Amino acid sequence: LVVLGIETSCDDTAAAVVRSDGEILSHVVYSQADLLARYGGVAPKMAEEAHSRVIDEVVQQAIEKANLTEKDLSAVAVTIGPGLSLCLRVGVQKARKIAGLFNLPIVGVHHMEAHALVARLTEKDLKFPFLALLISGGHNLLILANELGHYVQLGTSIDDAIGEAYDKTARWLGLDLRKGGGPALEELAREGDPNSVKFSTPMRQHKDCNFSYAGLKTQVRLAIESTKTDMENNPISSASSEDRRKRADIAASFQRVAVLHLEERCERAIEWALKIEPSIKHLVVSGGVASNRYVRSRLDHIVDKNGLRLVCPPPNLCTDNGVMVAWTGIEHFCLGRFDPPPPVHESEDFVFDLRPRWPLGEEYSQGRSEAR
Ligand code: ATP
Ligand code: FE
Repeated sequence: LVVLGIETSCDDTAAAVVRSDGEILSHVVYSQADLLARYGGVAPKMAEEAHSRVIDEVVQQAIEKANLTEKDLSAVAVTIGPGLSLCLRVGVQKARKIAGLFNLPIVGVHHMEAHALVARLTEKDLKFPFLALLISGGHNLLILANELGHYVQLGTSIDDAIGEAYDKTARWLGLDLRKGGGPALEELAREGDPNSVKFSTPMRQHKDCNFSYAGLKTQVRLAIESTKTDMENNPISSASSEDRRKRADIAASFQRVAVLHLEERCERAIEWALKIEPSIKHLVVSGGVASNRYVRSRLDHIVDKNGLRLVCPPPNLCTDNGVMVAWTGIEHFCLGRFDPPPPVHESEDFVFDLRPRWPLGEEYSQGRSEAR
């Protein structure tokens, strides 16, 4: 099997071709980070236009780099949710066009499931059931993956996701956002003292596996305000060495507490998960924030301490990409879960399946009662 994967759910336009033995034949990502840095956030209409401008080129490159033509494909996989519907639509329209023209089946993919399952491409030993921590711009999820398509949600964010907190903190500290706020903050944090600013760890009084980053964001904003420096409007590149040190201390202190919150929730989730499913051997950590080296090393320690193994895909497969979509498509396709090829000429107003809000798995109710 050879599957083309297309991803446009948020601010990256990505496509890839993957073979069912796990060989990645091509992997193309066009990032809008530059645009975001200039305009300060994802505006759906602007993101949609950016996707529309490059989608044909990105898909064509993915097919060419794989040394194939559309005729060689077995199916097309595309993210249908969750995400911004204007953006999802661009990818789904493109996928349906190719599938219609070349008579290919289509697999509609859940973006967060793809973040988790790509770990099965990179780690051949990873069998169900396993535990997954998915940390990205829009989600913080702790998931028990029982089998393909069957997930139990042990925890989720009650407000912001960790990636959002990294992005905002980076912006408020005046960092260069062109390569993304998360990576810029990770780099600056290496220069700072992680114990210099006292931030409190979120949700310690809640004995569950949920997350919250809104309060930490507020603490960071207050810490910045108390320095009496307008960091956001004065880029770090022109800061004095003392000012730079202050920013690095805030960055390092933020990162320590943001990740400590992950560590604490993961320890509890491992405990819960082993009670439900004692055969679990792995914790998968994926999503954009999982490309952070500090995050990886701290979680590695927690997982090791609890007798499990950490599986973390390489950084370029943790952030949004087409490979994870193609791979998830392959997994579902192999179980016969796909849609037949769409008609060659689809009318403009045809309504196709998009799921902008689409929970991954059911909530774990036992957890809530235990938490009381
Ligand atoms: P979602 O997957 O929830 O729909 P998304 O697709 O926009 O959101 P991803 O591409 O999976 O998110 O991840 C992007 C997020 O990861 C951003 O918030 C970004 O700042 C963060 N991120 C990327 N690299 C790093 C890093 N090295 N350290 C911390 N955060 C990072
Ligand atoms: Fe993502």
